[in-house]
Amino acid sequence: MSYVSEVIDMVQKRNPNEPEFHQAVNEVLLCLEPVFKKHPEYIKAGVLERIVEPERMITFRIPWIDDNGKINVNRGFRVQFNSAIGPYKGGLRFHPSVNQSIIKFLGFEQILKNSLTGLPIGGGKGGSDFDPKGKSDMEVMRFCQSFMIELSKYIGADIDIPAGDIGVGQREIGYLFGMYKRLKNSYEGVLTGKGLEFGGSLVRTEATGYGLVYFMDQLLRANGKSFKGSKVIISGSGNVAIYAHQKVTELGGIVIAMSDSNGFIFDSAGIDLNSLKIIKEKERKRIKECIINSSTATYHEKCSNIWDIKCDIALPCATQNEINKDSAKKLIENGCFAIGEGANMPCTIEAVSLFQKKGVLFAPAKAANAGGVAISALEMSQNSIRYSWSFEEVDLRLKNIMINIFNKSSQAAKEYGDEGNIVLGANIAGFIKVADAMMAQGIV
Ligand code: NDP
Repeated sequence: MSYVSEVIDMVQKRNPNEPEFHQAVNEVLLCLEPVFKKHPEYIKAGVLERIVEPERMITFRIPWIDDNGKINVNRGFRVQFNSAIGPYKGGLRFHPSVNQSIIKFLGFEQILKNSLTGLPIGGGKGGSDFDPKGKSDMEVMRFCQSFMIELSKYIGADIDIPAGDIGVGQREIGYLFGMYKRLKNSYEGVLTGKGLEFGGSLVRTEATGYGLVYFMDQLLRANGKSFKGSKVIISGSGNVAIYAHQKVTELGGIVIAMSDSNGFIFDSAGIDLNSLKIIKEKERKRIKECIINSSTATYHEKCSNIWDIKCDIALPCATQNEINKDSAKKLIENGCFAIGEGANMPCTIEAVSLFQKKGVLFAPAKAANAGGVAISALEMSQNSIRYSWSFEEVDLRLKNIMINIFNKSSQAAKEYGDEGNIVLGANIAGFIKVADAMMAQGIV
């Protein structure tokens, strides 16, 4: 049995009932075989056995009172996965599906993603099984305050700096920050994704969606293609999806379909960005409302059917495992030539290998959606020097970071004998930096 297979086996035995975590570990480790041939010193130092075990996993109770006076209890999580190259950094997810397996898969991915940005940030992730949907602002605030009363014991500007993710946007970050400040009596950049009035960075809201499209633009250009005139499907209609739409449109693409967890809208003329923003960001309504102002848009129940639509480029920006083997087959049959993962692990391992086998250009999440965390790290820098950079300055840095990630991943793929395989290249490039830091710091 190879070293990698032994570690995969050990992870499965030690972490039963954690399918998403197993999936994320398998996807990374299976790409690393050639690294251990070249660097047997990593095996001797037990780097792999150590990197798959979180440095710390925190689970806690979150009691809160709803508008009817009823007491509710949710479960909170924070995984502080790896601090070899910097303080723990990664988002908070509020969604009823959140459990230890999902938090660990996201935290593990975050280690390599953060490494790829080239910035000094370690890997972490957290969240709760709380569902903000349908809750009043006051209920969301009370929940966030209770969450922070516990989380504040473990985080800090030089320890662990959470951010947003599914269900956690600027509103939630504001409530969390307010409570942290009150508890600690300290004004520090302990969370990123803050409002612009109190330490947030320009471009943070746009960063993941823009970054995804900057990355895809590089991949397309390297293969003689472009967004111009391409029909694009974007799943989801949250933070990542909305700003991916904006940048795709700027580059001449036409976004023909978007979704939420109930269904999707299709508009061959292109989905109108302004009404989408009003309905999703201001009014917090469902995607089906977006057809009201359009004579060409139609609404369809069941979000997974979005992948049956004919398109050139697909950008899954909703959630994990939303494209399985069947959806992948359908996309390929319909002529889709490029996939960019805006969400974390939106394609199953079977779907990814099908895309690769059929020559579909494929950009993996840890490289393609790293723009959000990169700008979060720049928000930390701005908070430290008590200064804010202009929109243009941050946007340019974002673009350069995404180009660097693309180049680094492509070079690693070439160096390790599989040119063009960005999945392999991103995993290897992300891993080597963390592994070298772990080696230098001894067995800790
Ligand atoms: P939001 O909460 O803003 O939006 C999520 C969108 O995805 C919503 O439209 C939501 O629909 C849909 N969705 C969520 N869960 C499901 C599901 N189980 N099935 C179908 N649709 C679903 O989240 P973000 O846009 O911030 O995050 C989207 C993805 O991008 C996640 O995978 C996240 O981890 C990843 N990501 C986000 C970053 C960021 O900066 N925000 C950074 C890097 C990655 P509904 O409203 O019906 O729930």
